[in-house]
Amino acid sequence: MELTDKVLVCKDCGDKFIWTEGEQKFFIDKGLKNIPKRCKSCSAVYKAQLNEKHPQHWITCKICKKKAEVPFEPKSDDILCEDCFHSELKKRNDLILASGEKLPE
Ligand SMILES: [Zn+2]
Ligand SMILES: [Zn+2]
Repeated sequence: MELTDKVLVCKDCGDKFIWTEGEQKFFIDKGLKNIPKRCKSCSAVYKAQLNEKHPQHWITCKICKKKAEVPFEPKSDDILCEDCFHSELKKRNDLILASGEKLPE
């Protein structure tokens, strides 16, 4: 199949944009199904909006005082970064195992 540059219409701004031969080749190679609906600038805006829907919150870890980003809204200051959370969890699990108990599911 010969690929040629195609002119598509952006669904957001209505502007025409070029879907280049190279982009089409990439599209086919990747087995993608949805042809581009937005021009480059609108798809950048669209992606930025998607990211905004999943805001990151900055927390200060209670243990190491490092700032860390978490995908949920912190309810209190009693919060750990991912590293400390995992090492605390491991410590807790080690304690549980040391006392001969089973780990909670
Ligand atoms: Zn557009
Ligand atoms: Zn930490």
